[in-house]
Amino acid sequence: MAAGHRAHLHGAATGGGGVSGAALGDGGTAPRRGRDRRARRWPLPTGRERVASPAPRVAVVGGGIAGLAAATALAERGVLVDLLERRPVLGGRLAGWPTTLADGSAVTMSRGFHAFFRQYYNLRGLLRRADPRLAMLTPLPDYPLRRRGGGQDSFARVPRTPPWSALGFAALSPSFTWSGLARMAPRAALPLLDVRVPEVYERLDGISAADFLYAVRFPEEARHLAFEVFSRSFFADPGELSAAELALMFHIYFLGSAEGLLFDVPAEPFPQALWDPLAAYLRGHGVRLRTGTAVERVRPRAGGGFAVAADGGRPEVFDAVVLALDTGGLRDLVAASPALGDAPWRGRIAALRQAPPFLVSRLWLDRPVRPGRAGFLGTSGWGPLDNVSVLERWEGEAARWAARTGGSVVELHAYAVGPTADRAAMQRRLRAELHRVYPETARARLVDARHEWQDDCPLFPVGGFAARPGVATPQPGLVLAGDLVRTDLPTALMERAATTGFQAANLLLERWGVRGQTLWSVPTAGRSRLLRTLAAHA
Ligand SMILES: Cc1cc2nc3c(=O)[nH]c(=O)nc-3n(C[C@H](O)[C@H](O)[C@H](O)COP(=O)(O)OP(=O)(O)OC[C@H]3O[C@@H](n4cnc5c(N)ncnc54)[C@H](O)[C@@H]3O)c2cc1C
Repeated sequence: MAAGHRAHLHGAATGGGGVSGAALGDGGTAPRRGRDRRARRWPLPTGRERVASPAPRVAVVGGGIAGLAAATALAERGVLVDLLERRPVLGGRLAGWPTTLADGSAVTMSRGFHAFFRQYYNLRGLLRRADPRLAMLTPLPDYPLRRRGGGQDSFARVPRTPPWSALGFAALSPSFTWSGLARMAPRAALPLLDVRVPEVYERLDGISAADFLYAVRFPEEARHLAFEVFSRSFFADPGELSAAELALMFHIYFLGSAEGLLFDVPAEPFPQALWDPLAAYLRGHGVRLRTGTAVERVRPRAGGGFAVAADGGRPEVFDAVVLALDTGGLRDLVAASPALGDAPWRGRIAALRQAPPFLVSRLWLDRPVRPGRAGFLGTSGWGPLDNVSVLERWEGEAARWAARTGGSVVELHAYAVGPTADRAAMQRRLRAELHRVYPETARARLVDARHEWQDDCPLFPVGGFAARPGVATPQPGLVLAGDLVRTDLPTALMERAATTGFQAANLLLERWGVRGQTLWSVPTAGRSRLLRTLAAHA
């Protein structure tokens, strides 16, 4: 349990604590976040700079990206925030924790590789609070994708601005042949040229990502690529994932944004690079960071506000509550809080589903992989193996371990694993596949290994969008945030978590007549009149 709220921090919202007006997203002057001139700035309701005294008290439940974004935007405007996270550490799915290896080395384990794309404007805005120049993010020069028995795609030389990004990729890629392209059904692909939210869901939420790509007659090899890059990054089988989410991904990364497909990664493990500095920033703004605190029930009070019960303790009173939880956490907490919301809303929460389990295996090997191996490689055709990271290429802690021992730190991901899979066998299988992808690893001795099995990613099933809960709820003063939450901004994954976190804070601030956080997104429609006109013929 952290220390109590600090007294009001005068000037915090306009620069105290080292944040600039730019980082705060000042409504009138918010500078563009990336290189894309067509990135969209979402207007803010006007209001006061800070809440009036006495300041409202808000419980933010969940310490992942969404909860951290909500806590940040509220605290900067003078709200008294308690952030309650059931795990001992912040970061949610990007949490990291200490572990000691068989060789005695103290290292940090996590779910590992995450791509921080340049179009993650709101997430980057959050991280800039503690790291204004984003010095802790380092670019990966490429993101090769290799198919077994096939070619290798690369994004390094692909132009960043559409339509040249898509055309350049197709021209450079061995996955797109002229004959394959000629067989495509261009009319079926037209919706990809003008993706708007929520219209894309009206059009494509009724079919699966797999069926959509079959209908488009996407070239066979390219289809694998689309599955590996986009569909599986939602942790779902392409036959189960809504085609609308796939189209949205094409828009965000390929056809709608000029930020390109290259990305950055943290230069140290998540706690050191991201969450410890952000936690210090939040404490500086008076936030009580209560890790190791599981919220059990939330009850609306007759006179307004909420009673929040955690860890068997006496319920505490708050003026408003942000639920920034993963799918299972949200479902359980709402089920245990029978007076929250109304029956239709509660039914929609109860129906939310998780994507199947995934496995992250990290292996500390006694010898290095070959020098040319990429920091991150997407794989297709090697059984359940989705990607291979060589951590010492980009993470300082792994690089220091590798330099000291002469070894290598390799991470393997397998998404959408069958729920009944034999876990020990799956771990052995992933390692065997690594030996095929990088044969030199077959000779390496395993110094140690860690295996993370989880199933806390949301599933976006075919036809699920209409019932997906949004940031606003039927309960005044109760808002939702997280990557499972519906938003009209074209975002996904970590950026959806950050965006809905800020939106949740904005909704509460608006109630108190206070300005919130300016939001950015990739453009909200096809980039050019030509593309939009073509798409209208779909
Ligand atoms: C292996 C892997 C790789 C990924 N790669 C990428 C990537 O490359 N790019 C990308 O954009 N995204 C990626 N993602 C997705 C990304 O991690 C998520 O979109 C993002 O972290 C979601 O953040 P969140 O705040 O919505 O949820 P979470 O991080 O899940 O946070 C929810 C928090 O609520 C807490 N909680 C639950 N119940 C309670 C309770 N009762 N009381 C208190 N606290 C509670 C949980 O402990 C958790 O900390 C990846 C995910 C995984 C697992």
